[in-house]
Amino acid sequence: MSETSFIPKFPASHDSLHAELRKRVQQYFDEKGINVTGTMSLFTKASLMIAGFIIVYVQLLIWTPIWYIAIPECIILGGLIAGIGFNVMHDGSHGSFSKYKWKNKLAAYSANIVGANHFMWNMKHNMIHHSFTNVDGVDDDIEIGILMRMAPTQKRMWAHRFQHFYFWVLYSMLYVFWIFFTDYQKYFSQRIGAFPLKKMNTKDHIAFWGIKIYHGFVFIALPIILVGWLPWLIGFLTMSVVSGFTLSIVFQLAHTVEGTDFPVVNESSSKLPDEFAAHQIKTTANFATKSKLVSWLVGGLNFQIEHHLFPKISHVHYPAISDIVRNVCKEYQLQYIEYPTVRRAIVAHVRFLKQMGKYD
Ligand SMILES: [Zn+2]
Repeated sequence: MSETSFIPKFPASHDSLHAELRKRVQQYFDEKGINVTGTMSLFTKASLMIAGFIIVYVQLLIWTPIWYIAIPECIILGGLIAGIGFNVMHDGSHGSFSKYKWKNKLAAYSANIVGANHFMWNMKHNMIHHSFTNVDGVDDDIEIGILMRMAPTQKRMWAHRFQHFYFWVLYSMLYVFWIFFTDYQKYFSQRIGAFPLKKMNTKDHIAFWGIKIYHGFVFIALPIILVGWLPWLIGFLTMSVVSGFTLSIVFQLAHTVEGTDFPVVNESSSKLPDEFAAHQIKTTANFATKSKLVSWLVGGLNFQIEHHLFPKISHVHYPAISDIVRNVCKEYQLQYIEYPTVRRAIVAHVRFLKQMGKYD
């Protein structure tokens, strides 16, 4: 992994690509006379997912069913954690869930229900990943440590030649790792990679520890008391593997596939090679955009190009604005990277991992 001890800058825009994209997308919303934020269907989906999570959780603990029913229920619980993350927490923290600030806050705080910390997420995702996508040493999403090589500038090790086989295992551990390790690592070092954390006030410190205590009680202590140690362990691991893998693969399919770029910062000027919008288009890929089911489940994260260009627009509008983005890309001779199905995107991710593992 290369070390970047400075915060990169984007060069000034000469071709006004970002301005052109914004102008045309704004025109679409003006013509339609609609808000850029979430619609009633999104609020319904969010309520369904959160209610579903609470119902399955309570059912498992109070009327614990036999194992062959309990395990599929834990799989559903894991899927719902990922679903709440994609559809509620992610949109809320970007401020695109609703036109009302309090509703966005509430949606962003849904991260806390499933045990993650909204403060850390906001820094890691909104401020770092969304600005410096695929920049080695800065973007935390491609920093998996020595176990995986996720960018051409990272050091290749012998074991990496097998990473396209063992990545499944590591991705499955994301939830456990996030809740029990990386949150604390960020908290105690007060950094996310090269980035210092925003100063935490007393409320942020209380929230951090409050969420950790809540998680320990709701996800560990209470289930052990009610269902016993071994059933809890099996259930907790099942839920964690499903949520960890789903969260990891969806976010990775958007940036680490064949065709996406890994821009390198110019060390003397601290500048990235492309302006913001071109940077986002070159480092991001869409997948399965024709599938309404995939779009519904992953909260529009399959329209990741549109999301990176317009994070404050709710994902419910991405299918409509994708044609505008596609046309602008064509005019500016930028490749609009897209995989038609989830399967093809996974193949492209596996091929990327294989290339990173075998060749310098
Ligand atoms: Zn985002």
